[in-house]
Amino acid sequence: MEKLTIALTKGRILKDTLPLFAEAGIEPLENIAESRKLIFDTTLPHVQFVVIRGTDVPTYVQLGAADMGVAGKDMLLEHGAAGMYEPLDLGIARCKLMTAVMVDRELPAGRIKVATKFVNVARRYFAAQGTQVELIKLYGAMELAPMMNLADVIVDIVDTGNTLRANGMEPAETIADISSRLVVNTSSLKRKHEAVTDVTERLRKAVAVRAANG
Ligand code: AMP
Repeated sequence: MEKLTIALTKGRILKDTLPLFAEAGIEPLENIAESRKLIFDTTLPHVQFVVIRGTDVPTYVQLGAADMGVAGKDMLLEHGAAGMYEPLDLGIARCKLMTAVMVDRELPAGRIKVATKFVNVARRYFAAQGTQVELIKLYGAMELAPMMNLADVIVDIVDTGNTLRANGMEPAETIADISSRLVVNTSSLKRKHEAVTDVTERLRKAVAVRAANG
């Protein structure tokens, strides 16, 4: 079959991704967690994994450096999905993209300062609500921004909410339900149809088996 490169998101999402791929019969030949390599052969001789940051997965797939990828919906919403199909919700790494505020602190009357790494998502969300905001791009530790009076609101990923509560904050509004998605480069789907379809269907079955088993 045609050579296929699949970009996987490293870190937390990878821990959920590898078991699902294993259930689909696709396993790396080396332990990814214990390796400093970035490219891994798999039990399917024509398939290799590249393991990269979640923010980079849409770029690799969109530009065709990877044929397929696993990316959080948050990354796809922020990056945009041009040049990619999203054939499958993998149902892993579920969380919510939410606004959050300080407990017991009123929002200012005028323009609200919003700190986030999801500036595109936040811009669209507040524009749709007709709320005037000033966006402040941060790369981490969003929950610090309100404490330091850098922002009034943050837009961030919430899973258990523990991170927010530990920092005197609480979730406010849900912007989107997030899970990891399979994405496919549009021209790879045409040029490598058989290999892309094989991987997609293997994963679709693995997801369905999980759903059937609750
Ligand atoms: P929690 O304290 O459980 O609400 O987790 C919040 C933090 O964990 C967020 O700020 C994210 O950085 C990270 N996080 C939790 N779940 C995910 C996920 N599915 N994808 C990416 N980041 C996540």
